[in-house]
Amino acid sequence: MTPGPTYVIRCPLCEQLGRYSSIASGNTFGAVYYTDGKRVAPMLPDTPSVVRCGHCSGVFWLESAADVGEYSPWGRDAKPIDPTWAAALCLVEPDERQYLANLEQLMTAQPKSARDVRLFTWWRGNDRQRGERLIDDDATAELISTRHDNMRALIDLLDTAEPVDQLMRAEVLRQLGEFELATKALTRHFPAEFDTAISRLLYLCARRDSALQKL
Ligand SMILES: [Zn+2]
Repeated sequence: MTPGPTYVIRCPLCEQLGRYSSIASGNTFGAVYYTDGKRVAPMLPDTPSVVRCGHCSGVFWLESAADVGEYSPWGRDAKPIDPTWAAALCLVEPDERQYLANLEQLMTAQPKSARDVRLFTWWRGNDRQRGERLIDDDATAELISTRHDNMRALIDLLDTAEPVDQLMRAEVLRQLGEFELATKALTRHFPAEFDTAISRLLYLCARRDSALQKL
């Protein structure tokens, strides 16, 4: 994995500087694929489309922020950098609660991205089931209810003509415990490359298992 430039932007909410690193080149070695369609590739980390400011804790679309500059912190291109850039706080992807609390304003800011932001929110919630141990100790009834509201709203935004979206629709239904509806969604025609994922989801539906799994 080769690091790329670090980008500095201005938070559209508080005008303070934020920064995020990039990858010049990477690969999918060691990547893990999950039943919800998310890929976790340690050697090719994604830049989140939605980020949280370290200064004001505001959540916004990264592309809505004004670019301030970029620098290379290491390698041949490394040069002394503006101290205000070096002091910029790292932008991070919001966690599930932060996404849920900001869904409305994110969708208002980019109405065409409603599907994406609901998808990111679902994936971020599923992150509690990725890795070595389950992280769900403090999920309140209110959080679970809001999480499910988002999942149901996501179903309506997925494109039934797109195999990937149709597969994700079945997975959302399975995670909601709607095993019959999920099975029905999986028994339409899919391209052959989806066979492994479909077999896995059908097997999990038959076992009435609603947990996220590796593919
Ligand atoms: Zn801010």
